[in-house]
Order: sequence, then C-alpha cells, then structure tokens
Amino acid sequence: MSALTDASLQKPVTELKGVGAALAAKLDKLGISSIEDLLFHLPARYQDRTRVTPIGAIRRGDEVVVVGQVMLADVVKGQRRALIVRLQDGTGSISLRFFHFNAAQQNQFKNGLWVRCYGEARPGANGLELYHPEYRIVKPDQPLTVEDYLTPVYPLAEGLTQNRMRQLIDLALAQLKNTTVTDWLPSALFPHLPSLKDSLLLLHQPPPDAPVYELQEYKHPSQHRLIMEELIAQQLSLLKLRQQHQAHLAPIFQVSGSLQQQLLDQLPFPLTGAQGRVISEIQRDMALAKPMLRLVQGDVGAGKTLVAAVAALTAIEAGYQVAVMAPTEILAEQHFNNFTQWLTPLGLETAWLAGKLKGKARQKQLDQIANGAAMVVGTHALFQEQVQFQRLGLAIIDEQHRFGVHQRLSLREKGRMGDQYPHQLIMTATPIPRTLAMSAYADLDTSIIDELPPGRTPIETVALADSRRDEVIQRIAHACQQGKQAYWVCTLIEDSETLQCQAAETTFADLQLRLKELQIGLVHGRMKPKEKADIMAQFKANKLQLLVATTVIEVGVDVPNATMMVIENPERLGLSQLHQLRGRVGRGAQQSYCVLLYHTPLSRNGKARISVMRETQDGFCIAEKDLELRGPGEVLGTKQTGLAQMKIADLVRDQYLLEMVNQAANKLIQHYPEHLEPIVERWLGGAEQYAQV
Ligand code: ADP
Ligand code: MG
Repeated sequence: MSALTDASLQKPVTELKGVGAALAAKLDKLGISSIEDLLFHLPARYQDRTRVTPIGAIRRGDEVVVVGQVMLADVVKGQRRALIVRLQDGTGSISLRFFHFNAAQQNQFKNGLWVRCYGEARPGANGLELYHPEYRIVKPDQPLTVEDYLTPVYPLAEGLTQNRMRQLIDLALAQLKNTTVTDWLPSALFPHLPSLKDSLLLLHQPPPDAPVYELQEYKHPSQHRLIMEELIAQQLSLLKLRQQHQAHLAPIFQVSGSLQQQLLDQLPFPLTGAQGRVISEIQRDMALAKPMLRLVQGDVGAGKTLVAAVAALTAIEAGYQVAVMAPTEILAEQHFNNFTQWLTPLGLETAWLAGKLKGKARQKQLDQIANGAAMVVGTHALFQEQVQFQRLGLAIIDEQHRFGVHQRLSLREKGRMGDQYPHQLIMTATPIPRTLAMSAYADLDTSIIDELPPGRTPIETVALADSRRDEVIQRIAHACQQGKQAYWVCTLIEDSETLQCQAAETTFADLQLRLKELQIGLVHGRMKPKEKADIMAQFKANKLQLLVATTVIEVGVDVPNATMMVIENPERLGLSQLHQLRGRVGRGAQQSYCVLLYHTPLSRNGKARISVMRETQDGFCIAEKDLELRGPGEVLGTKQTGLAQMKIADLVRDQYLLEMVNQAANKLIQHYPEHLEPIVERWLGGAEQYAQV
C-alpha cells in the first residue's frame, strides 16, 4: 500500500499535537477527518508576503506588503467616520483606511514612525488605499523579516482561523515529509508532471519564486498533477459504476413494432429525423440482455415525449410495464394526458400516481399498477413503498436534472425482478456541452435530439425595464384579443415558495383589475393538485387567455396556442431556467414573443444573461454560457451526476483537460488495472456515491 494510504497518514486528526475533540468537530465540517484529508485541503489562493513592494509599484487589486513612514494620521467624517493614515516610502504614498479604531490606535501613528502592513490595494478618493490592513509599527533599523513561502489562504469553517489552519497543515506536512508516497499515476503516462508528494508540498508551501499568477489560475504543474489525478479518479469511478450496471441482466425487447406503427399512424405529423435516430438507438439498447442506461438530451420543444412514448410501446409490446416519472405534478399530469390520449386508442391502460392522491382513488391506482397497467405515470410518489409493479421493463425519467441520482436508482431497484433490472431512459432539456457530458455522465450512454420539428418560428425576445410594465400589459390585451394566449411568470424573490406564490397572487389580482375583458388564471406551487390541473386544463382549452404563474410551469408544459410570455425579474433566474421558461412559447407555427421585464439597475451578470437570451435560442449555446456565468455546480449539480464533490478540479475551469483525462483513464484501465482501485480510493474514499445503492 502507498504511504498516503499508509497508517501514519490515515490516522485521525486528533493524533496531531493539540487537536482535541472540539477542533476535530470543526474540521469535520470541512470534510477533514484524517491527516491525509488535511494534506488534500488545498489553499484557495495565496498571498505574497515574501517581499516588500515599493509603494510606487502597487497596482489596484494587488495584495502587498508595504513599509512606509507616517506622513499624517487623521480622522475624517465623510459618509463613514474613518481613520486615515498616509504612508510614504520615497517611491510614492498610499493611505490606510480604518473604520473601526480606538483612540490608542489613532495616537499610535505618530508622524515619522515606520509602519509595516499587509493588505489589498483598492482605489480611493486620493489614489490607492489599503482597507483595514494588518499592520505593525517597526523600527527603521529593524531587519525586515519576510516570509519564506507564499502564504496559503485556506477555505475555513466557523471557529477556525487561517493561522490555526496553517499550523495544522504544517503538522501534517511534517508527517508527509517522512513518508514515501506511491504514485498511482504512472510517470510513464505523464513524464512531465511532478510526483504527488512534491505537488502537495509545493502547493502548501510555494517557494518565493513560485509563479503566483500560475497558481491563482490553477495552471501550475503541481496543480495539473492533482487535477488530472482527481478527474481520472472521478472518471474511473463512474466507469466502474457503468460496468457494475452492465453486468446485470435485463429483459430483451424484440418486437414487430405494430404498436409503434399504430401510434405513428394516429399522429398528424411524421417523426423528425433526429427523433427517428434516437428511437433506434434506444431500441438497439433494449434488444440486449443488459439494462439500458441512456440519457436523451434534446432542446426544449424537440419532441422528447413522443420519443419516450415510442420507447414505451416497444416495452409494452414485449409484455412489460413502463413507468414515467416527472419532477412536478403539473408535468406528470400533462404526461398522463398525453399518454392516455395516445395509448387508449391502442387499447392500453394508463395509471396515475402522485403524492397527493389519497384514499380510495390512490388504492385504485395502486391496484391497477400491481395488476399490470401497461403505462404508469407519476411523480416521485412512484417509488414509495406501497407501489408494486407487476413487470416493470422500462423506467423513463423526464427532466432528470430535477432528480437526484439516488431517486433514479430507487426506481430501478423497485422494478427489479429477480436478477433482472428494468431498462432506464433519462430525458433532459438541459443540454450539456459534449466534453463535459463525457465526464459528468461517463456512466451513461447519450443520445441527442438535435433537430426541432419543422414549422417553428423563432421566438422574438425583447428586454424592457419594468418602468414599461403598462405598455406590456397593453400588448398582452392586444394579443389576447386576437385569439392568442399568454403567460405571465412571477419569479422567486427569495428562496421561498411562499413569497413567490404571494407575488403571483398580487400580480394576478392586479392584472384582473386592469384587464377586465380577459379570462385570467393563476397557478402556483401551493395550490392543490386538482386546482392546478383544472386551471391548466382550462388554459389548454383556451378558456383562459392569460395565465399568471410561478416558475412551476418551467418544465414541459405544452400549450401551442400560447404565443406570448412575460417574465418578471428575469435577472433573478439562471440562463437554463430562462430558456426552459421561454420554451413554453414558440410551440406552434405562429410568431411568439418573450418579454423580459427586468428590474433596474441590472448587475453585470444580469445584463450578460439577458443579452444571451436575446441573442440565441440554441439550448446548447445557452448551456455553455450558463456554465461560464454560473459554474458547473449550479448547472450540473454533483447531486444529479454521479460525480462526488471535488477537492481541486473544476469541470469548467479544467474543461480543456477532459479529453486528456479520458485517454489517460482508458490507458490506465488497459495497462495498469491494479492502479485503478487505489486511485479511486485515494480521491473518492467513502464518497463513491451510488456504487453502494
Ligand atoms: P420536449 O422535448 O420539450 O419535451 P415535447 O415532447 O413537449 O417537447 O414536444 C413539443 C411539441 O412538439 C408538442 O406539441 C409535440 O406534439 C410536438 N411534436 C413532437 N414531435 C413532433 C414532430 N415530429 N413534428 C411536429 N411536431 C412534433
Ligand atoms: Mg418535455
């Protein structure tokens, strides 16, 4: 075994001098329990205190050590009372600004005294300033003690200070220095990368000449080494999962396709080429004796539901049941309606299950499911204990980004028949750039519906300040008088469903007053499912012209005659969410409009998002921008991918390495099979999320 997994580094932190239970508990909040964990707790950034910067050479944003002589110390009143101390060193002058200070402190700064300080330079009223710098009065002839290394700045948890963390890491480093560490990433694969041990030492204690810029950008070879190794570990763990999954058995569906044909004959339109291609990819998988695990990505409106229906009929024709799980009741209800409409003419039964279905009605559905209803549609209520399938052959999960990996897997477990598992089809309208998908979904096969049904007119998107709300209301009145329908979407004020619903209620009341000639409906998350369903049905039937809604209508809702959408405060939403919302219009042949009614002033990021929305309607392009603006945590969420929390790698920042990671992982599998376990163990340890499910 390697030295890193060796007993000395595996020991709990409490083995270190001065670490008791209380400190260990604080460290635990950072996921640190062993000495090895401390070593992998890497600095978020560095400060350079190894040299004194001449005041004249400081640029804004620099974090610097300065030594200068007091020229003046004065309390200014201004907006906020502050103590200003002006320092000069012969190359220039700079101000220190303190908002919290006492008289003793003020009197300390006598003219002519020398002060040594450390802080970040920000632009102020009279040139650069250091806000609340760390400082010390020094004697002019005192030798200038500087640090030997760049100073690491660590992520902290409550009750921990940088100094305490640095001391702890120093203790861990002392142990590391005495240990030989096995490199599971063979140097033959990466001849130019430093060893793991050297990398860790350097990153915790970079020498004064280490390139700070490279370190800040995560481009230093020592960082590369760790990033590569971590990404490889993640990849290997997903591939292992895939292997485990494929070792299982699944029912083989080989059918004549007569049900599929009957469905397609009913439709007023042919499949798009992309739908046809993806359907054959799915059917090829399901004709094999191992469980399919396929992700179908398709932009909003690409026609994923129909693809799901054809896949379902393949399983049904083979004599199996199919379950469709949707993230919200509105969406589940809509699927239920679609599937009932499509399957009833074929003589097939569709059951329905949602959390709020109670009593007898619920029991009736449960019985239908147990007795083999061909199609079962529902929310996550589907994997509750009382639900027993008779012969589940295919589980379809819609809009998977709303579900966690665990929920998906419990549905699979539910459908297990002896040693056979159901096939799984996962559908998402959140497209993921290809390189990223390769890493984040390495355990899945993917298909892409890269074509929209013909005859769609691009949506025209305009952004207006909310001072023009009246105009927008007039526009809606006008559109509705022409027989069109519209959505008015109220967004989240805080992360509170209650507040969002209140906002929708207020808007609803206001619009009712101002648009008396229109039939207006309201849906939000706190209404009873039946109420919601009724309103949706009325809107769909064009009995309501305007629907005021919260973001509950974000996913999947399909009303082709709705051609106008107003999104209030779009700046509060991420790009993918805006794209999803906007996708509720532009579903028919008529020109559709989306009005982004923003609140001023807009932040820079808010402006950027709104202009992306105006420029493009391509889901992949929007997803890429979303990644740039928000980062992968938000877009992918480790919760939904099999990926565990990462220590140093970042899927977006390190995207350019992913191709290399992929190749390296394959080489390891081929040539160094005995290295796989230790690498995964080292980086993921107990965190291999769904392996144990
Ligand atoms: P999404 O991929 O967003 O789930 P849907 O499945 O809701 O999209 O389909 C959007 C709309 O496109 C629906 O009204 C559906 O009936 C229609 N549709 C699906 N496939 C086709 C097709 N091949 N030709 C024309 N319209 C289609
Ligand atoms: Mg859909």
